[in-house]
Amino acid sequence: MLRWIYPSYCELCHRACEGDLCEDCLADLPRVPLPICLYCGAPVAGEQESATRCSRCSGQTRSFDFARSACVMSENMLRLIYQLKYHRCNYLAPSLSLLLDEVWQDTPRLARVRDSADWGVAFVPAGERHLFARGFNQAEELARALAKRRGLKLYSPLRRLSSGAESQTRLSAGERWRNALQSYALKKTYASGRRSLPPNIVLVDDVYTTGSTVRACARALKQVPGVKTVAALTVMRAGTRTENIT
Ligand SMILES: [Zn+2]
Ligand SMILES: [Zn+2]
Repeated sequence: MLRWIYPSYCELCHRACEGDLCEDCLADLPRVPLPICLYCGAPVAGEQESATRCSRCSGQTRSFDFARSACVMSENMLRLIYQLKYHRCNYLAPSLSLLLDEVWQDTPRLARVRDSADWGVAFVPAGERHLFARGFNQAEELARALAKRRGLKLYSPLRRLSSGAESQTRLSAGERWRNALQSYALKKTYASGRRSLPPNIVLVDDVYTTGSTVRACARALKQVPGVKTVAALTVMRAGTRTENIT
């Protein structure tokens, strides 16, 4: 009804459209090109058949099982992420969850899953300061929209500790990892076993940068008894450097 009175416009080209991103602009966003590292989802050189782990991942301990991102960084993608984070989350999250749904369908281990009690969707939690200033967590809204599309239950087992720095933007990779480890933990109800999770969790965030945030969150999720798989899905992958295969 409200849509009929106030038609919506595409965030990028400003033409009237259904939703907040028109089909053309959505299709034009540059996707992560193949081949990719089968662990972190980074674009790598060479053939997909021989791609296993990129140089960045080969020395890292595994906490999530695999990560995939829908799009690489582009001017339009950055504009959408900025709007999602700071201004129009409730409008853009359902449109951007289409990208998460697309990468879900392109990932063989996820493509078979639908309406399954063995799978659930969770999200990277926001700090209290972020929630107070903006009133929402963009990762939660993306996760909610994705869970709805896939017919899965949304879980909120993680919390952001106030001791962690609020923004990781200016930190080096090593600093990000140490900071991330101190920043995320299980909520008490999950840590004490009063609440449980399905064995397979898809963890949603907006941007994958060094992976330290999703690694720290996955580590916490795997402390819940029975959790076997944590797959991380993000809308955008920061940095476009093609990783070397090891
Ligand atoms: Zn458009
Ligand atoms: Zn990798």
